[in-house]
Amino acid sequence: MGPIMERKHALVIGGSISGLVSAQILAKYFEIVTIIEKDDIKSSDVRNGTPQANHIHTLLVKGKQVLSEIFPELEKEMMESGALGLDYILNGQYFIDGYWTPRFSSGLDSYFSSRTLFEFTIRKQVEKNNKIQFMNGLVTGLVTDNNKHVSVKIKSGKDFSSEQILHGDIVVDASGRNSKTSEWLQDIGYAKPEETHVDSNIGYATRCYKIPKEYQNLKEFIVILNHPPHQPKMGGILPIEGKRWKVTMYSIGKDLPTTDEKEFLEFSRTLADQRVYDMIKNAEPESEIHGYRVRGSRVIHYERAKVWPENYIVIGDAVCTFNPFYGQGMTIAVLGCKLLDEFLKKNLSESNQKKLPLEFQKELYKRNSHPWLLSTGEDFRWPTTKGQRPSAPARMMQAYADSILYLSPHSKLAAKSFQEMMQMTRSPLVLFHPKLMVQLLMRKMKLKI
Ligand SMILES: Cc1cc2nc3c(=O)[nH]c(=O)nc-3n(C[C@H](O)[C@H](O)[C@H](O)COP(=O)(O)OP(=O)(O)OC[C@H]3O[C@@H](n4cnc5c(N)ncnc54)[C@H](O)[C@@H]3O)c2cc1C
Repeated sequence: MGPIMERKHALVIGGSISGLVSAQILAKYFEIVTIIEKDDIKSSDVRNGTPQANHIHTLLVKGKQVLSEIFPELEKEMMESGALGLDYILNGQYFIDGYWTPRFSSGLDSYFSSRTLFEFTIRKQVEKNNKIQFMNGLVTGLVTDNNKHVSVKIKSGKDFSSEQILHGDIVVDASGRNSKTSEWLQDIGYAKPEETHVDSNIGYATRCYKIPKEYQNLKEFIVILNHPPHQPKMGGILPIEGKRWKVTMYSIGKDLPTTDEKEFLEFSRTLADQRVYDMIKNAEPESEIHGYRVRGSRVIHYERAKVWPENYIVIGDAVCTFNPFYGQGMTIAVLGCKLLDEFLKKNLSESNQKKLPLEFQKELYKRNSHPWLLSTGEDFRWPTTKGQRPSAPARMMQAYADSILYLSPHSKLAAKSFQEMMQMTRSPLVLFHPKLMVQLLMRKMKLKI
């Protein structure tokens, strides 16, 4: 039996991280890939479609590793564009429960920059691929034929005044947390997908500063952690390209930071340690203060669909969004694209291609489950968080992971193991090293004396 899926034209809705990376993957299998993006993507500024780009974005080590496989020149280009290569332990100062964590070379390094530079540099890589084309257009819905194939309705041209329908042999929705796939599918007769929400009520306020002269040689980022259940305020400084700091204030559940100048400084002064305040109080701001409110985490259960289009896939934030605090979003998006690669490689020449999209959604859900548990489990340490609680074993695992976090300032092994789990380079099993368990016991005994 010959291949069922034509491999001519792939469509991608959204030209941000998931859209760009998935397009690069699709170009391995399809003759032409069209990325449909509603924003003008020529500019390297923060776009309307990605307002989160005003805020600190860190790329996990796992994300960096996978991106290097997909774009071998990306890291070099990032560094040449001014990104900083930093080790998450050697160059990171974390204030946890009254102590600073130890600093040593851990090999857990990534590049740090503004989110706009990161996306812009990936786009430059994608633009080199002559099978990929960009289209400025707003996708407004789906149409279907009787064969369960969907095509997309697009508004394009001046003021998006002309409408057209474009068929893709495969269509990938990478349109982010405001994706309309759920509604679009219902409009053409599919059932409403179930959703799981964990509402933690998160607030960000971020401002750019020029790095003052006395700090210009300091290649470090600083994080003053919050402490559940009563101290939700957190703050951090991240050096980025152009000798600038991105400074973010964050809170969960209550006491959310605002965009008022005085309140921003006051917020930094009332963190568990004053280092961030001391560093920014006389620094020269380079931007206004940008705010962002996140309801929490959300997964749309496309994997549970009984009937699903035979050429439609949803990835990245369009399927699953996390509390951004854990810095997982872009890495999970990239891992989703890697999974797409594995799926296409394995299944495209087989006769069961009709099931490929739904099977993909099922596997994606499985792979996202662990980071979901990690981040929502943390969120439930706050009494203000609402939603479906993790199971008892997951809560026990969470409590154990937290005890390793609080051991981090006192143990290099704890600091490294915890980071390896957070950076997704090792499974949570890394926290169960016998030496670590002994150290934990000794610390607990010491605290009791
Ligand atoms: C405050 C904040 C801080 C964060 N910090 C981090 C961090 O430190 N590390 C990390 O890894 N992640 C972080 N994240 C998460 C990260 O931003 C997302 O996970 C990531 O951007 C997901 O990429 P995406 O391509 O799936 O979606 P998005 O980046 O949201 O992109 C969606 C794209 O689709 C386009 N689009 C939308 N609808 C349409 C349409 N109908 N037609 C055409 N185009 C459309 C949009 O214009 C946009 O370009 C943070 C998020 C927030 C909110």
